Amino acid sequence: MAKMRVVQVSRPNGPLELVERDVPDPAAGHVRIRVQACGVCHSDTLTKEGTFPGLQYPRVPGHEVVGSIDAVGSGVNGWRPGQRVGVGWHGGQCGYCGSCRRGDFFACETATRVTGITSDGGYADYLIARVEAVAQVPEELSAAEAAPLMCAGVTTFNALRNSGARAGDLVAVLGVGGLGHLGVQFAARMGFRTVAIARGKDKESLARELGAWRYVDSQAGDPAAALRELGGAKVILATVTNGPAMSAVLGGLGVKGTLMILGAPESLQASPFLLIAGCRSIKGWYSGTSIDSQDALAFSVLSGVRSMNEVFPLERAAEAYERMQSGQARFRVVLTTG
Ligand SMILES: [Zn+2]
Ligand SMILES: [Zn+2]
Repeated sequence: MAKMRVVQVSRPNGPLELVERDVPDPAAGHVRIRVQACGVCHSDTLTKEGTFPGLQYPRVPGHEVVGSIDAVGSGVNGWRPGQRVGVGWHGGQCGYCGSCRRGDFFACETATRVTGITSDGGYADYLIARVEAVAQVPEELSAAEAAPLMCAGVTTFNALRNSGARAGDLVAVLGVGGLGHLGVQFAARMGFRTVAIARGKDKESLARELGAWRYVDSQAGDPAAALRELGGAKVILATVTNGPAMSAVLGGLGVKGTLMILGAPESLQASPFLLIAGCRSIKGWYSGTSIDSQDALAFSVLSGVRSMNEVFPLERAAEAYERMQSGQARFRVVLTTG
């Protein structure tokens, strides 16, 4: 039987182990993907640390997967071997529950399916994916370029395009890191007056290169006041995982403005009076389904959005994971199978 390399975790907080397994065959409704690249996302800590409810071990992490279809199971329509594809966080849906029948596939009620959490992910030479979780990957993007767009990219792209902001609106991106450096690019290319907010002066020139119209150093003054001086934000995309940093910008929302939360701190303080008086809202956003990822990739090709990546070979996955965890990576970490 053909063999493949996978990087698995065998217990909560256990090491990332490079092991050999048999190459699996796709069941009905599934495809097998020959992996070329897989991003290392902060959410992979859920698998590594065992904090996702019901997680079973051993498990292969990774939900920013790009490769090509290598085999299809029975009953698969519309996909064939050789196609370039990607798989993200959303690992599939049932199609028959109430949420699915309303088109809210992300909220499928019968089974939560998450790539690299409820099934083995992309830290591997091959993975098996449910057919509805597969997105087309355009030829213009290399596998390593496309991989981070399957989670970090689609999350920021999809949140912005569903934020209610319109061309010319003031849109702020809080944080210029793994998510934020993509959020700034998407916001600028969608035609928003894009304000990047980060701590210190270090990231100003990069933020401007990425397309930011203004840069706000949140350590130099009150970032909410800076946004109010610009007229108040229609949307603030919160990509940080710091509750006080989110609370500090809330007062920069304009009338009917929305704080869209992508990062997950434990808690967040908000002034109800501020929300009531300006009809402002706080809203969370999930990433997206496979067609959202496909749209994010196509838009990235169209408009020149690119993730800035540090690339490691699969066998150095443990080192790549540490690099992601350090917070020092500029900006996403990607594994390639070579
Ligand atoms: Zn992710
Ligand atoms: Zn469902």
